[in-house]
Amino acid sequence: MSDNQTPQKAANRLSKILDAIPAEFQKRFPVDVPLMAMETANIFKWSDPITEIEGVAIKKFDGMLFPNESKTAWKLLYNSKVTSEGRTRFTQAHELGHYILHRTMQNEFMCTEEDMRNWSADSNNIEAQADLFASHLLMPLNDYRKQLNAEVDFDLLGHCADRYGVSLTAATLRWLEHTDDSAVLVVSKDGYMDWAWSSNRAFNAGAFFKTSQSAIEIPSASLAANATVTHDRHGVEMAAQVWFPHADKNSILKEMKIVSEQYDCVFTILKLPRSEKVWGPWKY
Ligand SMILES: [Zn+2]
Repeated sequence: MSDNQTPQKAANRLSKILDAIPAEFQKRFPVDVPLMAMETANIFKWSDPITEIEGVAIKKFDGMLFPNESKTAWKLLYNSKVTSEGRTRFTQAHELGHYILHRTMQNEFMCTEEDMRNWSADSNNIEAQADLFASHLLMPLNDYRKQLNAEVDFDLLGHCADRYGVSLTAATLRWLEHTDDSAVLVVSKDGYMDWAWSSNRAFNAGAFFKTSQSAIEIPSASLAANATVTHDRHGVEMAAQVWFPHADKNSILKEMKIVSEQYDCVFTILKLPRSEKVWGPWKY
């Protein structure tokens, strides 16, 4: 990465500048990413600024970043067919992340929708780094923590999504990234998991789903599988064994649900007791 930057450090540097601007001159959130992108070269004292930011109908990609021939200026493109303002903002921040962190390593960047949620801990993955940068820039932790003044459910995460102008998915992943709770986000389609993401505590407790390795069916006794329920934003309690067969039989988890008609999928949050372990027997 250039200039010994890490995604977190670079985002924090820009956040500090935004924090210092008095409230009468700016609305702090959502972050004005295009304005920030045009100013970034100034802030870092670089001579190859981003000079153009444009929405174009790009097939297959959500965002692109590339330089002019002499590499003295960069252009940031985002997919104008994406109608979600939150997704567009995240894409712009992701491309800004590539500009700050990776432009000396690679000539052009073409990023898909999947790249926008590659929040893996793999520090060598440039897509994960760009996502980490975007999530930290758009949702600074000090401010995010202040929003979490009640038990986390889809209402509170929806409030965060509105405040930061991001999708509910991005706001939920940001929460999972730093929470001490044992929680899992599951996104499912037609009764099968599309993808899932666990907080650290949940992951270490064995509460995760390897959706890339095999098709995993939604448990029939879950709220997610119950077609008569479209929303339960606060959640219901149920036996943890419904989702995790190796959980203690007396253990209770909370399942929350939202159906997204726009994306034709079901969002589920599972919250387990913090001390619960759900590893299969081969782990003992
Ligand atoms: Zn990317």
